[in-house]
Amino acid sequence: MQQNWDVEADIVVVGFGAAGVAASVTAHDLGAEVVILEKAPEGEHGGNTRVAGQGYLNMTSAEDAAAYLTALCGPYAVPKAMVRVWADEMCRNNQWLESLGGDPQEHQHPPVGIEFPDLPGADCVHKFHDGPTYGYSYTWKRFESLVKERPIPILYETPARALIQHDQTKETLGVRAQRRDESIYVKARKGVVLTCGGFENNQQMIRNYLPGVPYCYTSGSPYNEGDGITMAMSVGADLWHMNNYAGPSMALKVPEIRTTFSMQALHFSKKRPGGMIVVGPDARRFCDEKYKTRHGKIPVNGRWLPLSTPCPMYMVFDHALFSAGPLYDKHPSHGWTQIIERYEWSEDNSAELAKGWIKTAPNIASLASAVGLDPTALEGTVGRWNRYCEAKHDPEFDRALMMEPIVEPPFYAVELSPSMLNTQGGPRRNEKGQVVRPDGTPVSRLYSAGELGSIYSYLYQGTGNIGECLAFGRISGRNAAAERPWG
Ligand SMILES: Cc1cc2nc3c(=O)[nH]c(=O)nc-3n(C[C@H](O)[C@H](O)[C@H](O)COP(=O)(O)OP(=O)(O)OC[C@H]3O[C@@H](n4cnc5c(N)ncnc54)[C@H](O)[C@@H]3O)c2cc1C
Repeated sequence: MQQNWDVEADIVVVGFGAAGVAASVTAHDLGAEVVILEKAPEGEHGGNTRVAGQGYLNMTSAEDAAAYLTALCGPYAVPKAMVRVWADEMCRNNQWLESLGGDPQEHQHPPVGIEFPDLPGADCVHKFHDGPTYGYSYTWKRFESLVKERPIPILYETPARALIQHDQTKETLGVRAQRRDESIYVKARKGVVLTCGGFENNQQMIRNYLPGVPYCYTSGSPYNEGDGITMAMSVGADLWHMNNYAGPSMALKVPEIRTTFSMQALHFSKKRPGGMIVVGPDARRFCDEKYKTRHGKIPVNGRWLPLSTPCPMYMVFDHALFSAGPLYDKHPSHGWTQIIERYEWSEDNSAELAKGWIKTAPNIASLASAVGLDPTALEGTVGRWNRYCEAKHDPEFDRALMMEPIVEPPFYAVELSPSMLNTQGGPRRNEKGQVVRPDGTPVSRLYSAGELGSIYSYLYQGTGNIGECLAFGRISGRNAAAERPWG
């Protein structure tokens, strides 16, 4: 059994995002001594929460919230007791934030963003952020200050690597973490709370668990690599919701930058001049490029299914779009590329053309050859698209926005990859926030919260993730704080 410890606390929280904040603040305010381990260096901490749109859910009726979540999850619903606990706690997010000096403000801009308004209970969905402005890490800054104004040490650049258990009782005793090239041992007298996010940057797990994508990148934190899943599996945890994720969308990913670039022309709300379509490896279109997916899901035969992303995909467009300003939506309201990487995309796209991120050619056939597509097939697709624009009707995918022909030479192509905001899967947790084994028994003194093992099993309501981070962060924080210290 581990004898020597480098750091000690009642509760060790692994990961400094919204879930880590809610768990540590709650446990601290109940009298527990808390330490946070964070993998990222200071300045790149905060995970997906820091670069999110900053909205969180606060439901107005627990009954309706339970009905809405049950409908979102579909026929293989999460256990009723879990739904109920989630619903009750999701009604208390504003109250909690206000009690700590926060300033919850409801999103005002229409539509308020109920993604599935026809589902039962949808009226109880209300989206909030902290303070007068939406986006720009503002809600995160409030969360972060709640930790920093308390005596909660944060060990940056200290990723947790393994859970330490008692040899015989299998109680969770602490964590082995890494500092530079050394292991350090962190004792958790009461318990460990895993809040270290999903597996957005672990291509092996993406291949194993996410449906229909050969690879996928993220617009969120590059530090979320599924570590919590590996650690929890190593102590016998069950997994759930591994195939659910907030995606895919289509975005540019280049090797030089860790996260994805969103293309303005693909955003449903952005009207850009010029013609644009997206094609797959057969040089044919496969979707309404301007459709506002419900976090990656589109309606197919009366059901919501993930957008198909036949890779490699290419956005094909003309000079009218190229010359209308930056192709990348660099507005820093949210997204890791915008807020942390801050790559300076050129105003006229010339730098990215020179880097080869954008390919160009004088005609469609030579553009096709430049990116490895069949020239005749691409000419056929562009010709059909241009006729649809003339007729103002897209008989293939019913696209209604930016129905502009691709006519002005030269022509351009950008390779697109599947991109996501975040994964939802991870170790299964129970109503107390305890991580459980396949037989439902809890792994002693091990808790979790946030997108690592989120409750969302299929459809997802925007702002539900941060809302859940707060709800289960509090639940796990208070149950861990109530544990009797083992030593
Ligand atoms: C662009 C974007 C917009 C979004 N907008 C919204 C929105 O408006 N509303 C909403 O509800 N959701 C939104 N989401 C999703 C939401 O941001 C996340 O699901 C949520 O913030 C996850 O919080 P978390 O605390 O579980 O994890 P995170 O906030 O990702 O934090 C996890 C932390 O754990 C750290 N970590 C990872 N591994 C280790 C390790 N081994 N040891 C120690 N630390 C580790 C990471 O560095 C990170 O700091 C958005 C996501 C993105 C990317």
